[in-house]
Amino acid sequence: MNCEEAQELLDAYSLGALEKPETRRVEKHLSSCSDCRLLHQQAAETAALLALAAPLRRASPALRLRLRQRVLPRPALNWLPAPRLSWATAAAMLVVVSLGALAWGGFLQTQVNDLKTDSDRFAVLYGELERRGETVDVLQKASPTPPSARRTSRV
Ligand SMILES: [Zn+2]
Repeated sequence: MNCEEAQELLDAYSLGALEKPETRRVEKHLSSCSDCRLLHQQAAETAALLALAAPLRRASPALRLRLRQRVLPRPALNWLPAPRLSWATAAAMLVVVSLGALAWGGFLQTQVNDLKTDSDRFAVLYGELERRGETVDVLQKASPTPPSARRTSRV
């Protein structure tokens, strides 16, 4: 793009009215041409003053309402419910919870089995102790002096 082509587009460029390919070509030229950069600066100042050239008028209530509805965030957006779980996520969570329950059940079953084994062992030992106790009772009744008294009399 040469200076003549660039200067033809500077006003539209300053207003932001060019298509993207033209905008890129103008910017490329402005990056290498100080004369056109100066003209662009003047055009941009003029474009900025255009906004103040029109007389100010108060917008109608209907227009203000429409603008407010478009610009301001809607309060309903703040009250949206939390995103729902997808089926895949819910199924995965169910599988994890089920596996945890199975592992916990297995652990508890092991504990119960250990307690049953201990209980059986204690029942056998208790039976043995009772049998020995009865033997001691029989021996004590048959002996005129307790074995401990006999032992001390020997010493
Ligand atoms: Zn130029």
